[in-house]
Amino acid sequence: MSKKIKALALFSGGLDSLLAMKLIIEQSIEVIGLYFDTGFGGKSEEKKQEYLQRIADKIGAKLQIVNIKDQFVQEILFDPKYGYGKNFNPCIDCHANMIRIAKALLPRYGAHFIISGEVVGQRPMSQRFDALKKVETLSSADGLILRPLSAKLLPITIPEQKGWVDREKLLDISGRSREKQMELAKKWGIEDYESPAGGCLLTDEHFSLKLKDHIAHDSFDTEDIDVLKWGRHFRLPQGAKLVVSRNKEENEKLKALSLSKYIPFALPLPGPLSLIHKKATQADKELAARIALTYSKADPKERYQVKIGDELYEVSPFESKKEAQEYFVR
Ligand code: SF4
Repeated sequence: MSKKIKALALFSGGLDSLLAMKLIIEQSIEVIGLYFDTGFGGKSEEKKQEYLQRIADKIGAKLQIVNIKDQFVQEILFDPKYGYGKNFNPCIDCHANMIRIAKALLPRYGAHFIISGEVVGQRPMSQRFDALKKVETLSSADGLILRPLSAKLLPITIPEQKGWVDREKLLDISGRSREKQMELAKKWGIEDYESPAGGCLLTDEHFSLKLKDHIAHDSFDTEDIDVLKWGRHFRLPQGAKLVVSRNKEENEKLKALSLSKYIPFALPLPGPLSLIHKKATQADKELAARIALTYSKADPKERYQVKIGDELYEVSPFESKKEAQEYFVR
C-alpha cells in the first residue's frame, strides 16, 4: 500500500486558509493545520484556540498550535526585511517565517508539502505575485508551497509534479473579490469564520500605535504583548507607562498576568486595577494614582491613600476624565 500523503497548512483561522485546507482534504490528503501563535493573534488566546479547534474539526483537519512568541519578537517583529503593511504588520516576513518553520516541521509530522491560503493580488502587501515570490525565497521552501486557491495561476509545484495533488482540481482565484470564496464556504457549510487577517492585532491601528509608543520608551519582550492587549494606556510625563483597566473583565485579565516589569495596584475603593512600570519615578506614581482614581467613583474633593508597591500616595482624582486623557497613548 502506498504511503498516505500528508500536508502541513498555515492555518490562521481565516476563510482562505480554511478553504485551501478543505480543497486538499477533498483530494484524500491528510491535513494538519499549524496555527502559529505569535501572541498577537487576538485578545483572548483561549477563545481563539476553541474557535480553531471547532473550525478545524468542521473541515476534517487536525490542529497543532505552534508557539513562536519569543522567536517572532526577537527575529521578525522589529526588523522585517520587507517592512510593514499599513500598521505594525510585517506580513511578508511573517509569512516567510511561518513557512520556514513549517518546512522544518515536515519530517516531524511525516508530511510532504505545505499549504497556504494566500490568493494572488488579494491583499496589498503579502499576497501580490511578487510578494509571494519573496516569501518563497525568504523561506527557502521553493516548490514545496502549494496555494490551492490560486494554484492554476502560479508555477507548478512539487506536490503537483509528483502527482500527490491533482492540479486540475485546484483553483485560479485572484484579486480582492471574495465572491468565489463565499460560494465555496456556502457549498461546504463553513459559516462562522474570522476576518481575513484572522484577528491579528498587528493590523489594528490603535494596537500598533501602542506598540510604537512602547518601543520608543522601553525594551520589548513577550510579557508586554499581554499588557498591550488590555486597559487604557497612558504615557506619563517622566516616561512611565500606566495601564488602567476599563471594566471587571479587564481587572481579571490584568490580575492574571505574571509580570516582572510592572507593579499592579488597586484603589482603596471599588475601581479599576492598574499597572505602573517598576522604574516609574515618584512623580509619575503620584500622577498614576490620581489618574486611576479618576476612573473610579472617587470624589474629586476628597483625598485618598493609594498604595503602589511599598509606597503610599495621598491624592485626589482629577475633576474630569478629560484631564487624565491628556496622557493617553495615541
Ligand atoms: S496579518 Fe499578522 S499573522 Fe498574518 S501575516 Fe500579517 S503579521 Fe503575520
